[in-house]
Amino acid sequence: MSEKLRVGGFTPFTAIDFPGELTAVVFCQGCPWRCRYCHNGELLPARAPSAYDWEQILLFLASRRGLLDAVVFSGGEPTAQGALEPAISQVRKLGFKVGLHTAGIYPRRLSRLIPSLDWVGLDIKAMPEDYPAITGVDGSGVAPWQCAQLLAEAKTPLQVRLTRHPRLTDEAALEQIRNKLHGVGIEHLEVQRCNSEQAIDQTLRFPP
Ligand code: SF4
Repeated sequence: MSEKLRVGGFTPFTAIDFPGELTAVVFCQGCPWRCRYCHNGELLPARAPSAYDWEQILLFLASRRGLLDAVVFSGGEPTAQGALEPAISQVRKLGFKVGLHTAGIYPRRLSRLIPSLDWVGLDIKAMPEDYPAITGVDGSGVAPWQCAQLLAEAKTPLQVRLTRHPRLTDEAALEQIRNKLHGVGIEHLEVQRCNSEQAIDQTLRFPP
């Protein structure tokens, strides 16, 4: 039997995670990166026990038909799990739209999912060459920019966001990133303030 989606957190109702839609948010367990400012440290270990049972979440969602518009898969990194694709199908069968929050770590998996996605929030963290200084992973800057291009070409409703810690991203870098996004047809970059109080790199915790 295929593996069930591992879920580290669940928000039954929110109006801020998928623009214009009332959603539930499923926080998928596991991420292969260790971004210095990540504040979801408990969601990072891929093999941590699932805090929620996916079948129970499906039952809950079935009871919310007509009350919620959509389900958002967030993380961690949702596309790290092979079980995401069947989970999305199950949610669509219940009649919900599907949103995805991703750091764009797995372009091939994302390209398979795109036809099933109604909206994507994609994190772009830096220019490709500057990713390893944030994620701690060599070569990590290629995949997210491939994902940006894939999503722009597919015309998937998209918000590209950058979490900004002032010690990691300066104005010049932001300008370069905006220009590169324009080059793939993405006009807007949403810059979000870094919630650094829980940063896994304690040297980034405020005050800076
Ligand atoms: S910020 Fe996102 S991509 Fe980075 S380690 Fe945390 S969950 Fe993973």
